[in-house]
Amino acid sequence: MRFETLAIHAAGGPDSATGALIPPIYQTSTFVFEDVGRTRGYDYSRTSNPTRSALEKTVAALEGGKAGFAFATGMAAEATVICLLGQGDHVICGDDVYGGTYRLFQSVMTGFGLEFSFLRMDERRRIEDAIRPSTKMLWIETPSNPLLNIVDLEMAVGIARKHGLMTVVDNTFATPCFLRPIEYGVDVVVHSTTKYLNGHCDVVGGAVVTSSDELASRVQFLLNTMGTCASPFDCWLVLRGIKTLPIRMKQQEENATAVATYLNDHPKVRRVFYPGLESHPGHDIARRQMKGFGAMVSFEIKGGSESVCSFLRKVKVFALAESLGGVDSLVEHPATMSHASMPESIRNGVGITGELIRLSVGLENVDDLVEDLEQALGDV
Ligand SMILES: *Cc1c(COP(=O)(O)O)cnc(C)c1O
Repeated sequence: MRFETLAIHAAGGPDSATGALIPPIYQTSTFVFEDVGRTRGYDYSRTSNPTRSALEKTVAALEGGKAGFAFATGMAAEATVICLLGQGDHVICGDDVYGGTYRLFQSVMTGFGLEFSFLRMDERRRIEDAIRPSTKMLWIETPSNPLLNIVDLEMAVGIARKHGLMTVVDNTFATPCFLRPIEYGVDVVVHSTTKYLNGHCDVVGGAVVTSSDELASRVQFLLNTMGTCASPFDCWLVLRGIKTLPIRMKQQEENATAVATYLNDHPKVRRVFYPGLESHPGHDIARRQMKGFGAMVSFEIKGGSESVCSFLRKVKVFALAESLGGVDSLVEHPATMSHASMPESIRNGVGITGELIRLSVGLENVDDLVEDLEQALGDV
């Protein structure tokens, strides 16, 4: 089956007990044993639950992986995956990853003896120079948040294979609709399903897809042990959202392209970050490794914090809110919102300045979106 069909049918046929077309919400903590030592496949909902299984099967199919796992949040998924490592292990991580990822690694996991190097992953040399005898993992976000930097997965996986490192890709921004990291040899894909996979800003969730059975059993062990799994209702919502993922991504990308092009020509805009623009440093790699450029657009506004505040107060269709990936267009200010947990000096160093604004372009009529930006930029 092709991608669009998988998004609708990968969960499998109708419910075996009732014929329900849509997987029911199995809102139960426990399952009655058929006999001593014999279940019908489920015993306790932390371990596994049929509604969750339906979502897990779908995400695994879309990513082309061996097995999928659904988590309470994207951060729960990340916390579980990082526990594949242990004390003394070293991780090389992108320097402009999601702020919460940075906080989990830097403020929590270092306390348990893990070590991290945060660096720009655009050059083979820079990555190889950071490898130590204790390095175990490359943690990659592409396109990254909020600068939309692109990591060349062929290069990264090549380095990882040579040095025996595990590769993890946070595929939240591109989604499997536009990028399938496992096809490039990546070991583990993580998602915040809160974003595009669910797509409607009404659930928080996470997912992990593994490329091997061995990694799948280790992730299942950790999920069950740590209890980081998603609730049946949240899984049901994400499953519903995923059915329209391909068509949402296509239209949101079209809207984002129009928005990025408009901003790129605007005199009050210093710089636009969108991988679909030829001026973007990762454009050629993105065009090669992705099927689309996504619907996140960041830009720097001229005129410092006064312009930023004025713009953020004037937008009407774009809502001033964290998060992204839904049908509603959102705007946010990384320095004071999504990336506030990053120390200012580090933030400025990686290019997340106070003048940077991030847009999640939604499904509204694109003319309304561009007109909204036009009026908000009008007299900043
Ligand atoms: C939002 C986000 C996360 C964290 O997911 P939550 O569902 O908010 O816990 C991780 N990575 C990226 C790229 C994100 O955008």
